[in-house]
Amino acid sequence: MRIAIGGFQHETHSFAPRPTVFADFQKPGGFPPLTRGEPMLAAVEGSATTIAGALPVLREAGVELVPLLWCLGMPAGPIEDEAFERIAAMICADLSVALEAGPLDGIFLDLHGAALTDSFPDAEGELLRRVRAIVGPATPLVITLDPHANLTAAMAERSDAIIPYRTYPHVDKRETGALAAGILLERIRRGAPWAKAYRQLDYWFALSAQCTMTGPMKAAMAAREAIAARHRVVELGFCFGFPYADFADCGAAISCQAESQAQADAAADEFLAWLHAHESDFRPDAIPVAEAVAQALAAARKASRPVVIADTQDNPGGGGHADTTGLLAELVAQGAKGAVLCLINDAESAEACHAAGEGANLPLSLGGKSDGTPFRATARVVKLGDGTFPLTGPMGQGNTARLGPSALVEFEPGVRVMVTSKKTQAYDQAILRHLGVEPGDCAIIGLKSSVHFRADFEPIAERVIVAAAPGPVIADPSTLPFRNVRSSVRKRAGGMGG
Ligand SMILES: [Zn+2]
Repeated sequence: MRIAIGGFQHETHSFAPRPTVFADFQKPGGFPPLTRGEPMLAAVEGSATTIAGALPVLREAGVELVPLLWCLGMPAGPIEDEAFERIAAMICADLSVALEAGPLDGIFLDLHGAALTDSFPDAEGELLRRVRAIVGPATPLVITLDPHANLTAAMAERSDAIIPYRTYPHVDKRETGALAAGILLERIRRGAPWAKAYRQLDYWFALSAQCTMTGPMKAAMAAREAIAARHRVVELGFCFGFPYADFADCGAAISCQAESQAQADAAADEFLAWLHAHESDFRPDAIPVAEAVAQALAAARKASRPVVIADTQDNPGGGGHADTTGLLAELVAQGAKGAVLCLINDAESAEACHAAGEGANLPLSLGGKSDGTPFRATARVVKLGDGTFPLTGPMGQGNTARLGPSALVEFEPGVRVMVTSKKTQAYDQAILRHLGVEPGDCAIIGLKSSVHFRADFEPIAERVIVAAAPGPVIADPSTLPFRNVRSSVRKRAGGMGG
C-alpha cells in the first residue's frame, strides 16, 4: 500500500500588521522547518503535529510512505501569492513524481484550515482542488485540521474525511493524527467513499470562549462525542473557526462522514441544533488592561501562587506580533514588582541587550514595532540566552523553541520582561525557565496567549485574568472592519456577548 503524506499549516489574520512570506515557512518558531521528501519524515518525527501521530500507525500497517512536503508558518497576515504558489507547486510536483513510480492508494494531509492568500481566501480548498486535479476524484484523501479552521464546503467536498483536533489548548495533535491515519486505512480497505454532511454555524466564537478545558466548549465537545456515538458515524468533525479571516466562509462548521446519508445528516443536524441552542453561553471574558492589572495585584497580595494575565489581543498564535506594550506599561505604572511579562518579540532590543551584557543598564525602546508604541525606559539586563531549548509543556513537548538571541530585562520597580528575536505564543513554562525564571515563584505572569497557555500555566496559577490590551487579536472580532464575511454571521455575533 502506498500513501502520500504531507502538510501545510497557516492561520491567517486578515487584519494582522505583517504579511506572511515564504521565509516564514522556512524558519517557524517552535515547529519543524519547511522540509521536502525523505528528510521530512525525520523532521516531523516526534513533533507535536498530526503527521507525527500518523506515521507509526501507517508504518505498523506496512504502508510504503511517500513523503511530500511539510511546512508551517506562524499566524500572521495573508500569505503572499509567491509563498503559496511555491508551496503548492512543490506538493503537486511531488505527487506527480510519485504517480510516475506507481499508483497511490491514499493521501494524508496535515492542514490547518484557516489559511488565506492574496488570491485565494480558502487556500486549503484551493490546494485540495489542485491535488484532486492530479490524483483524480477516487483516490482516498483524509485531512486533519486545527479546530480553528474556517472549514469550507470546498474542503469538505474534496476530502474523504476531515479530522479536527478535539482540544484547545491543542494537546491532542498526535492522537488526532493516529485517529486520522486509521480512518484513511479504513477508507482504503472500504474501496468506496462515505456519505458526507457539511453544515455552517451562523454565529462566531471568540477565541477565549473556545477553550475546551472548561465551560461551554467543554460541554459542546462532550455533546459532539455523544452524538457521534449515538449515530455511529465515522467522524463528526467540529471546527470552531478563526474569527479574523475576512472571507465569506469565516466561522464555525461541522463535517460528518458515515455509512449512510441519513446518518451523516442526522448527526450533523443534531449537533448544529445543540450549538444554536447554546449560543448565549459562549461569551468572551476579557476586561480592560488597567482593571486586569489592578485585579491581579489585589489577588497576588493574598496568593501563594502566580496570578496569570493573558494578553489575549496580542496573541501571536492568533496573528499578533507579540510586541505590543500595553500590558507592560500598565504593570510598570501600577508598580507590579515581581511581575514578569512573557514575552516581547523585538530582535533589535535583544541584540542591544547582548551587546551590553548581563548586569548592564541601557536605555531601551522596547517592542511596539507593529503598532508604533514602544515602551521607553532604562532596563537592566538580568540574563542572556540563545533562545534554543526544548519545550516541556503538554502542547509543545517534542518541539524545540528557536527564538534567537533572547534576554531577560528588568524595569523599575521590578517588572521583568522576556525579550526574544522571534515570536512565539507564551504557552510553555520552558520559555521562562530558559532565562532562569521559575514560573511558580512569580507573583504575576503576563502571557502573550489567548487560551493555549492554560494547558501548562493553569495548573500552577492562583487565578487567570484575561486582559484586553492593544493588539490585533481583538477579543470581540465583530468590531473589526470585515467586508466579506457572510452577513448571517456578522449580524449574529451572539457568541461575542452581543
Ligand atoms: Zn488552533
